[in-house]
Amino acid sequence: MERRHLIISGLVQGVGFRPFFHNLALQNGLTGWIRNNSAGVEAEIQGEVETINTFVGTIKEMAPPAAVIDQISSSGIPAQTETGFTIQPSLSGTVEGSPLPDQGICRQCATELFDPSNRRYLHPFNSCTLCGPRFTIIRDLPFDRTRTTMDEFELCADCQNEYSSPADRRFHAQTLACPNCGPQLWFTGPDGKLAPGDPIESALRILSSGGIIAVKGIGGYHLACDAFCDPAVNRLRKHKERDQRPFAVMFKDLQSLKTHCDTNLDEEHILNSPIRPIVLIRQKPESTLARSVNPGLQELGVFLPYTGIHHFLFGRRMTALVMTSGNRASEPLCKDDPDALLDLGPMVDGFLGHNRIILWRCDDSVLRVVRGKLLGLRRSRGFVPAPVKLGRELVPLLACGAQQKNVFALTRGKQVFLSPHLGDLDHRTAFLVYRETIAGFTKLLNCRPDWVIHDLHPDYQSTGYALNSGLKAIGVQHHIAHLGSVIAAQQIKGPVIGIIFDGSGYGTDGKIWGGEFFAGEGCSWQRMGQLVYYPLPGGEAAIREPWRLAASYLDRHDPVILEDWLSQRYLNQKWAALRKAIQLGINAPLTSSTGRFFDGIASLAGGIMKVTYEGEAAVWLEHQADLTVQGNYEFQILSSNGIYQVDPGPLATQVLRDLAHSTAGAVSMKFHRTIALLTGEMAGLVRAETGYDQIVLSGGVFQNRLLLVLTWEILEKKGFRVFLPEIIPVNDAGISLGQAWVGNLMIERGVSDVFGHSR
Ligand code: ZN
Ligand code: ZN
Ligand code: FE
Repeated sequence: MERRHLIISGLVQGVGFRPFFHNLALQNGLTGWIRNNSAGVEAEIQGEVETINTFVGTIKEMAPPAAVIDQISSSGIPAQTETGFTIQPSLSGTVEGSPLPDQGICRQCATELFDPSNRRYLHPFNSCTLCGPRFTIIRDLPFDRTRTTMDEFELCADCQNEYSSPADRRFHAQTLACPNCGPQLWFTGPDGKLAPGDPIESALRILSSGGIIAVKGIGGYHLACDAFCDPAVNRLRKHKERDQRPFAVMFKDLQSLKTHCDTNLDEEHILNSPIRPIVLIRQKPESTLARSVNPGLQELGVFLPYTGIHHFLFGRRMTALVMTSGNRASEPLCKDDPDALLDLGPMVDGFLGHNRIILWRCDDSVLRVVRGKLLGLRRSRGFVPAPVKLGRELVPLLACGAQQKNVFALTRGKQVFLSPHLGDLDHRTAFLVYRETIAGFTKLLNCRPDWVIHDLHPDYQSTGYALNSGLKAIGVQHHIAHLGSVIAAQQIKGPVIGIIFDGSGYGTDGKIWGGEFFAGEGCSWQRMGQLVYYPLPGGEAAIREPWRLAASYLDRHDPVILEDWLSQRYLNQKWAALRKAIQLGINAPLTSSTGRFFDGIASLAGGIMKVTYEGEAAVWLEHQADLTVQGNYEFQILSSNGIYQVDPGPLATQVLRDLAHSTAGAVSMKFHRTIALLTGEMAGLVRAETGYDQIVLSGGVFQNRLLLVLTWEILEKKGFRVFLPEIIPVNDAGISLGQAWVGNLMIERGVSDVFGHSR
């Protein structure tokens, strides 16, 4: 007979871990007890040695899907006289845990929804210890019903009974509800007037007749319409002022999803996980979804229902719905009913709402699976607020993030908490939400930042916030933050070569960087390589008119061919004016941006003069690529002032000349391969100089799957170890993690400039 004391740390509270443990112990004939404590869970178990060993060995693999076990430490203690296994009350004390992310409805709960003999038949708020909202309804820790917005719904006798039975799968389920005691669903018109009859029937009537409804969900409202109905999708586009950007589609189930998309096992696994993210997957050519869902793209953002409400939205006939964030163009996601009525009312034919309050806005997460790895584009619902764990203690700080795709970060001990995705801070209400969320998150997680870390860009709202916060402030260069996010996320040891291909970020020389090669470690870096600087005619305006970049390149390298190209497009006069401004140094900042380089090439290849969102031209170029085409363009790596440089100009010229006798698809493929090859070559030069063979890839341009895979393969072939931030986005949503990591080192070492030892 042996007795052991176990301490299990990780995300083990609010996931049904204790009932699982209790039942597993009983099955194995073990005695003892289990309880929650501040670190996670502790337990004592008693039984035969082999039984105990097998038991401990299976905990990790058999644990509930949402549980994340970091460590199980075990120590022998004297055996006792005891019978049975009990779940003891939680130990109080300071809370070091964090709320669990929201969990998509589990299989068992989903099955009950459609079982007429079950007392939760058609109950849209069905949940259990494994599933349901968590973070988005929490007011305070620890996670108990009284500290969530479920506190308004007093448990009925049946629910109370389930709640207090250890063997029940709803034992201590804080979001437990049933038709008698749970939240109520309703349907209203666009004016907020309650519609008589069954709310689901009303919603279905509108959806199936090509209408648009707003649906209150877990972390906010969605706008929904039938994904097969072109007019409905187009109307949604008009309302959201969204011309081209693809919409995400929710499918009724995996089977209907697979009739439209080519999925692999990794993708199916993550689609079905409790996270239920939007996954970008290749759409089958024969898919019959409305063209307007993702015009011109072969990739589609897809996800599966994650609440009871979603399951009911498809009715008997529908299989795919466009489900997009419920907000006005460039404003934050709506989560409160009055805001939704005001903002979304004019866009919809009705509201499917309910009386459970959403406390935290949390957009759907978006990711891709590339070469078996999850690559985040937006890390939000299902991930937040689970911390990123670092191997070492950090200074208490707030990292403010960037301007676009904002996510901020807070540190506590060895953990970094990333906020939900807040989006672009340009709009006034977005900035208000930003400030509100920082205050709320800091309080919820019991963080007390002494320092604030910000981008170097003087015009970012986040920079302004930092400088006015009254905390000690440190600036971290945008691309060093992109680089730091990977080192932190992957806990890379030793020096690395950082390759950051990005849209734009403020450089230490006041120029706009974005095609950068760094070498170093910690908070000491050298800029080893870059794209040659070119003027960005009209500054920000050039992002919306990518042809300006193409003209900028060609003007320096082949003005004759440029003249011809411009006159075919009646742009000579416009260019003459921009050219003059460049010469006078008016609103023509210099940039080494790879994002702008792709935009410029896309503009040449596709005749794209104007875009409606950043990166649209580059996305188009990627999707054009004809993978069967061989070859690449010529390039040269020059060295100037000790920095390796690649000139986009001669490449732009080759592209334009090649277009005379090649398709855009062939040009795109050759161009992508060229960038991958020159990246490999450049990395080789930096390795020869430094001896470093670990490589970090980050920056928004690596959202380009084709470029990423080509570059990744070439670098691996050259013997590099390649690191990506994986679930932390390579785009600006990943910046704050890097700011926190680099900023922390700068504070510890008293460094004010990471390029302090630059040559
Ligand atoms: Zn469940
Ligand atoms: Zn009940
Ligand atoms: Fe960036």
